[in-house]
Amino acid sequence: MTRRGHLLLILCLGLLVAGVSVYLSERRIKEYRSEQFLMDTLVSIKVYGDDAAALPVAVAAAYGEMHRIAALVDRFPLTGTEECRRSDVCRINAMAGIAPVRVDADTLAMLLLAKKYQELSAGAFDVTIGPVMDLWDFAGENPKIPASSSIVATLPLVDSESLEINEIESTAYLRKAGMKLDLGALAKGYATEKALQALVRQGIQKALIDAGGNIRVLGSNTRNAPWRIGIKDPRQGDALVAIVTLEDAAAVTSGDYYRYFEADGQRYHHILHPRSGYPAHENMSVTVVSQDAGLADLLSTAFFVMKGEEALALADKLGVNLVLVSAAGRIVHTSGLAAHLEVLPGGAYRYDPR
Ligand code: AMP
Ligand code: MG
Repeated sequence: MTRRGHLLLILCLGLLVAGVSVYLSERRIKEYRSEQFLMDTLVSIKVYGDDAAALPVAVAAAYGEMHRIAALVDRFPLTGTEECRRSDVCRINAMAGIAPVRVDADTLAMLLLAKKYQELSAGAFDVTIGPVMDLWDFAGENPKIPASSSIVATLPLVDSESLEINEIESTAYLRKAGMKLDLGALAKGYATEKALQALVRQGIQKALIDAGGNIRVLGSNTRNAPWRIGIKDPRQGDALVAIVTLEDAAAVTSGDYYRYFEADGQRYHHILHPRSGYPAHENMSVTVVSQDAGLADLLSTAFFVMKGEEALALADKLGVNLVLVSAAGRIVHTSGLAAHLEVLPGGAYRYDPR
């Protein structure tokens, strides 16, 4: 046989072995999926592996972590109830202006992240937004535009400078009475990351967690290719504007279409500019791709508030990727996403590759 013939034979054998192993692994691999309503959203966890009995056990551990984080950050229980005693955020808010509160290591970690990115985002991100969120009451039955005088009167309570964190003592303190933490911008992603870590501890190597727009994938998909994650058209719920391919990473979207109401033909949504107290109006949606779902959740909210160019510059500086649909209908993304993003034709948006 010639040298070329040999090479061809080796190549064919190689392909055969790869094909068989893919076939075998596809036959052996089992899927287990489960959904729960948690943190005000539908959470879905899908795990894959050879050992069918191990999959539900791993998923139960993952949900255990999500419930634990959800209980820590719940800010709505009534003061004095058991739920409030179990929630660090509820206790911190109840003790605003009175005394520091000892908190769980995960609450401390979330608060440290919040403080750090409040500064890095020049105040676009601020977890002391609670009192103004309450005025709008987006989660309530009849959300309404608050009187501008009450927004102006409440804005001084949005003040991360007055959030004191003591890492050694593991305490947090809101210095002014009436201040309220709201970790809604990062808790879902943080909980998603914790859930993923629980899956890994249980030996899972392939998984997809979707917590209301917070997507975190573990490994590659069942065909050993990157997962394909759709980015929604912010004005047409069923349509997609783009597909991002992901392996071992998170893609988290903040959008003005998740929670909003309309009044006088205008949309009022749940992501507020901390300085004005009104909904941020630079973007319709921002998706952040990063290794960590907690960071991606935090940053998608922060970037949503920022102007596109500033968001792109900060994303580059932090080494994370983003794709955004601006309020003017432009789709832009960081250059790091070029090889992982497919912008779909036919939408009402203008695509500006960088
Ligand atoms: P997300 O869906 O992750 O973008 O988070 C939105 C939630 O974050 C809102 O429902 C509020 O609880 C909170 N939030 C709103 N505006 C801000 C802001 N500027 N900084 C931090 N958290 C915010
Ligand atoms: Mg967020």
